[in-house]
Amino acid sequence: MLTCNVTINHSSFIIMSRSFLEIHRQEAGYRPVQDRIHDFGEVEQTLNIRERKLQASRCMDCGVPFCHWACPLGNKAPEWNDALAKGDWELAYRLLTGTNPFPEFTGRICPALCEKACVLNRYNHEPTTNREDECAIIEMAFQEGLVQPHTGISRNGKRVAVIGAGPAGLAAAHDLNLMGYSVTVFEKSEAAGGLLRYGIPNFKLNKAVIDRRLKLMEEEGIEFKFGEEISLNDLCSNINIRFSMFDAVIIATGTPQARDLNIPGRKLKGVHLALELLSQQNRALAGMEFGKDERITAKGKNVLVIGGGDTGSDCIGTAHRQGCKSVTQIEIMPRPTEGPDDPQNPWPAWPRTLKTTSSHEEGCNRRWNINTLEFLGEGVRLTGVRVQEIDWRPNPAGGRPLMVEKGKPEVIKAELVLLAMGFLKPEHPRYPENVFVCGDAANGASLVVRALASGRQTAAKLNAFFK
Ligand SMILES: Cc1cc2nc3c(=O)[nH]c(=O)nc-3n(C[C@H](O)[C@H](O)[C@H](O)COP(=O)(O)OP(=O)(O)OC[C@H]3O[C@@H](n4cnc5c(N)ncnc54)[C@H](O)[C@@H]3O)c2cc1C
Ligand code: SF4
Repeated sequence: MLTCNVTINHSSFIIMSRSFLEIHRQEAGYRPVQDRIHDFGEVEQTLNIRERKLQASRCMDCGVPFCHWACPLGNKAPEWNDALAKGDWELAYRLLTGTNPFPEFTGRICPALCEKACVLNRYNHEPTTNREDECAIIEMAFQEGLVQPHTGISRNGKRVAVIGAGPAGLAAAHDLNLMGYSVTVFEKSEAAGGLLRYGIPNFKLNKAVIDRRLKLMEEEGIEFKFGEEISLNDLCSNINIRFSMFDAVIIATGTPQARDLNIPGRKLKGVHLALELLSQQNRALAGMEFGKDERITAKGKNVLVIGGGDTGSDCIGTAHRQGCKSVTQIEIMPRPTEGPDDPQNPWPAWPRTLKTTSSHEEGCNRRWNINTLEFLGEGVRLTGVRVQEIDWRPNPAGGRPLMVEKGKPEVIKAELVLLAMGFLKPEHPRYPENVFVCGDAANGASLVVRALASGRQTAAKLNAFFK
């Protein structure tokens, strides 16, 4: 059995549930496509309380909670599902926030690594609905007034600067503040959240959810300074006067550099990095105004998304809401295996199988094994993209498979191209021993749940440094 930090009376706590034998997995599902593509409201719906408790009751307390192992935060899904099934929302909330500082984020956008590792996924591909349960617990806690700022935190006299207000920086700031450190967060953007705010579209995560949490953190004593871009090189020496006021610094600056595609035509008007579109759209929804020449929009255009991952999928959903004419998504790698099982990466590991998101359901021509050769234009404007179908063959010399061309190049008509090919892992200079790096800035582009876990682990490391 994996260890558990929260003290609970286990013998009276968990009921051995057999309800999974009778109750099927029920997801809340999405709003109908024709309804949702006309707005940026969250697409996911919610179950009613009775249905939610039934879903939580499906957790069978299998004894070897692979869900707990798979969750980077070590969330104790069996424990809070049991409390939820019994209607003890307050206990469920206390157990959930014992490991997860911001369940309202993960409850909305976590890919739920835990659910793939659930024993019920192995049994009949109907794992428990942990992510949705998590969201229901925290939303009920907010609704019932259980989520209150911690007051009367006793201060230890030490000051910490956190650079970057994405999920990693926020998690580190949250934990250090509760430990008694005086925390100041420096953020280059005009508001907090990092990619939660300026990457993930509003239709997956309503930004009021971030503001609600921010307000609590400010009430708990964390100071935020926005519009402050900090030079990381200056932190290599202790001569930076501003930071010499701090006893320690946490760098949580994410992966600011997206992978680009420097092929002929890259400078044509209409070729953009995915985040240029996504961040601008989120800012526009927050009320920011953009000039006509500055605004990137898919309205009335044929859109080509290059990159088959989640960022690409967010571009598809955004393009639909902006009123695009068509969307095609191309990926250089082969089409992943279909179905729930991945023979290359079997349960309880994460299956690298074909993922169809809510945005794909809204309409998209998806193609694999396509290499991009050249952006084509008339004058300065993009009109299409020359691509080449390819195949991957085993490399007789071993190592990376060989890319071989198949047939003739073709042109995909496009007036807007979005490059969604991932992010470069940042390189860091050698920092003094009181400077710590966490989240994507340390590990490369990943997931919100991993950023939160990294922020928490780094806060604990920093605290140990001063002991
Ligand atoms: C489009 C998109 C969609 C995604 N969707 C999901 C999803 O659905 N689920 C999921 O789990 N993950 C998703 N991810 C990944 C997830 O958002 C990231 O892994 C996570 O946000 C990383 O957190 P972080 O705090 O390390 O970095 P970030 O979120 O990148 O935050 C870094 C912060 O540091 C600030 N900063 C950078 N440099 C400086 C500086 N020099 N001075 C001051 N501030 C600075 C930035 O402005 C930013 O606010 C998505 C990513 C993208 C791009
Ligand atoms: S944070 Fe993600 S992996 Fe962890 S329990 Fe919640 S949904 Fe599962």
